[in-house]
Amino acid sequence: MQLLDGKAISSQIKSEIKEEVEKWVAGGGKKPHLAAILVGSDGASETYVASKIRSCEEIGFSSTLLRFEPTVSEAEVLEAVEQLNNDPDVDGFIVQLPLPAHISENTIMEAVNPAKDVDGFHPVNVGKMCKGLPAYISATPFGILEMLIRAKIDTSGKHCVVVGRSQIVGLPMSILMQRNDYPGNCTVTITHSKTQNLKEICQSADILIAALGRADFIKADYVKEGAVVIDVGITRVVDPTKKSGYSIKGDVDFNDVAPKTSYITPVPGGVGLMTICGLLTNTFKAAKKEIYQ
Ligand code: NDP
Repeated sequence: MQLLDGKAISSQIKSEIKEEVEKWVAGGGKKPHLAAILVGSDGASETYVASKIRSCEEIGFSSTLLRFEPTVSEAEVLEAVEQLNNDPDVDGFIVQLPLPAHISENTIMEAVNPAKDVDGFHPVNVGKMCKGLPAYISATPFGILEMLIRAKIDTSGKHCVVVGRSQIVGLPMSILMQRNDYPGNCTVTITHSKTQNLKEICQSADILIAALGRADFIKADYVKEGAVVIDVGITRVVDPTKKSGYSIKGDVDFNDVAPKTSYITPVPGGVGLMTICGLLTNTFKAAKKEIYQ
């Protein structure tokens, strides 16, 4: 078993981006600027946004955080989106999900200018990705692809099973893994909560991507000997032994599954860190106007 170490890979990627940004700025390029909209004070969202802002500082990007009370109206969030769409200094921005129930995530996502949609959630970017056109690929799938590339994992002709069909992880991941490119060219099965015989389907996976949000759900008997297992899940479970009162669990029972795998990602220290790299890469592309003029 080999660990797909998100910590090591992401720190390598960040130092590569940092170096490129220095060259870009030295050559007269604009310092990349990522903005984030955060509504409410959900603990996990706070942690993710803080880590995104910290990463921007580490690699020489500017960052801006716009905070709103959980009672903010949809119109006010739309106004903030419009302000960022029109701010020439902001290259890209994200609206941290989830949003409170009274705000439509789809309405907000669709209001973001696709050229600044560095999370890759806007229908224009999703559509372009499906057609294989240049687009911002959503950050988590992008991070997973980068992990597969860096570990030189052969994907061609393999059976890839994706557990979860969310718009931000499972669905784009399944599309990317079937495309005619590397990493891709897989035969893909996408599964969800209504899937029958999930265990049997997972057992036939050469590459198993778990993105269902159920702590320790995937056990050794779901996994084929020698499979590549990518664990996207991040669930906080109560843990009185931790200072914070909780520990972070993936969707895969790591200790049970790892001995059967050829490669596996840990949680924490796996896909989560790669997601941030996806976001930073997209923001740098936005600053360089690589995808949209
Ligand atoms: P969603 O809740 O939006 O989607 C979960 C998906 O899993 C749904 O398609 C659901 O099916 C399916 N599912 C739920 N239970 C089962 C089950 N028992 N068997 C099979 N399928 C099931 O979650 P996200 O995609 O947003 O996130 C998934 C996990 O990944 C979460 O833990 C989240 O915190 C984490 N995450 C991690 C990121 C990272 O950077 N590492 C980034 C984004 C998310 P159905 O459609 O039928 O409801």
